[in-house]
Amino acid sequence: MAKIPQKIQIIPLGGLGEIGKNMTVIRYGNDIIVIDSGLMFPEDEMLGIDLVIPDISYLLENRDLVRGIVLTHGHEDHIGALPYVLKQLNVPIYGTKLTLGLLQGRLKENNISNANLVSVKPGDQIGIGPFEVGFIRVSHSIADSVGISIKTPVGTIVHTGDFKFDQTPVDGKVTDFHKFAELGDQGVLVLLSDSTNAERPGYTMSEKSVGVNFDEAFRSAKERIIIATFSSNIHRIQQAIDTACNYNRKVAILGRSMTNVVNIALDLGYLTIPEGILIDIDEMNNYPASGIVIVTTGSQGEPMSALTRIAMSDHRKVEIVPGDTVVISASPIPGNEKLVSRTIDYLFRQGADVIYERDSGLHVSGHASQEELKLMHNLIRPKFFVPIHGEYRHLVKHAQIAQELGMPKTNVFVAENGNVLEFSSDKGSIIGKITAGNVLVDGLGVGDVGNIVLRDRRQLAKDGILIVVITMDKQRGCVLAGPDIVSRGFVYVRESEQLMDNAKGKIKQALDRCETESIIEWAAIKSNVRDTLGKYLYEKTRRRPMILPIIMEV
Ligand SMILES: [Zn+2]
Ligand SMILES: [Zn+2]
Repeated sequence: MAKIPQKIQIIPLGGLGEIGKNMTVIRYGNDIIVIDSGLMFPEDEMLGIDLVIPDISYLLENRDLVRGIVLTHGHEDHIGALPYVLKQLNVPIYGTKLTLGLLQGRLKENNISNANLVSVKPGDQIGIGPFEVGFIRVSHSIADSVGISIKTPVGTIVHTGDFKFDQTPVDGKVTDFHKFAELGDQGVLVLLSDSTNAERPGYTMSEKSVGVNFDEAFRSAKERIIIATFSSNIHRIQQAIDTACNYNRKVAILGRSMTNVVNIALDLGYLTIPEGILIDIDEMNNYPASGIVIVTTGSQGEPMSALTRIAMSDHRKVEIVPGDTVVISASPIPGNEKLVSRTIDYLFRQGADVIYERDSGLHVSGHASQEELKLMHNLIRPKFFVPIHGEYRHLVKHAQIAQELGMPKTNVFVAENGNVLEFSSDKGSIIGKITAGNVLVDGLGVGDVGNIVLRDRRQLAKDGILIVVITMDKQRGCVLAGPDIVSRGFVYVRESEQLMDNAKGKIKQALDRCETESIIEWAAIKSNVRDTLGKYLYEKTRRRPMILPIIMEV
């Protein structure tokens, strides 16, 4: 009889030390299940990159052991990498109805039709390999979110997913406190918990409080109202629609992703809209401005979004007229602040009244604040704790919270992507590291843009490029014409003739030197030109443009 392993491994492939691309591997002996498979939007210095997904080399190396991928909810940072992952690893995917509905849209866009999707309900308990997996309802900024419990022969793991404790959720479906408490009673070996708001004291407000503030905004608005929020926040959209009904306004949904999500949510029964409320954006002119609400995306100032286009007077169907009220029902995700404030400025310039302040109560977070995190710890009372889903400082802060609650420091693991954490019933440690990191997606290319390409893009973006063209006689190795210099993004040539002339002089000297020293290899001549010119330009301008010597041989 095979020996039963007395250890489980937990390996985060993404989501630690970053907000995005969440993915966690759970391994027991020769069986693996994966929780979530998300993407991340690129950072500023990743020029031209569309999105970032986790490196799944570990899963591909162990592909025969992977029993399935379990999803907590339908946000991009949890499902967005699946179209890429499934192309390499077609395993069953388990998720709630709305999560799978949103995923299906993504898969269709990527022409994936053979995915094995298994729909589960909150409260379900199913066997996947040797794991008994439970789905526990939680509140979050998207409907149908769950936490995950995984019973293994070594002990139980609880993964909270993204959560907050909302006592008055919009759909009335409260977090399953009882289940968490029950698991805690039975004993939990390891807790993995959302750390996004670990820096925020107190409690996160209920989603319902936004509805109250919508009401106030509607009461004072005289003309048209435009509400921008996240397309995935169905409860927020529901509250906007409910408020519109109360004020006898029609609702037009604007923007491709918003329309998609609203259609999916309507189909699956996650949105309730009374007959006759929704109108097409083209029908707007049939109603007075005071009878209209537009619900749209662009709350992050995304350049291609409907709201940004409207703000820039670049939208085909909607333009701002003085008297419009724009409600930005979101707070900027760190990194988007500039884009958001630019959009707000433009909206004001067009004469709109913009309501956007953080304390206007028109947005609440979907993540637990400190007191809620403590409540989760007190319900679960785990033996070991691994903070997940957060920048490094959030993980550290969450670890401190666990210790304040009495957990010994040695039982708390602030880990990094790729760390292999191993737990037995009484001991936990980080025993190694596997390959984990970023795979960059640029258009249709997945992973073909590496560090060297990025370095080039950064250099081009920072200091531009100079192309040096020299025509040489192949036989005799002497210069027939040139050097000519073509510059893009470095200096405006017409205003820098002196600099360019001197640069040409320097190149000529370098070429002469090559000739006297009988350097005839094209590569050697090129690197001589590059070095000489690079040094000269840096002396004169303190810039380091990319230099591309081209030798034409005759
Ligand atoms: Zn989320
Ligand atoms: Zn998330």
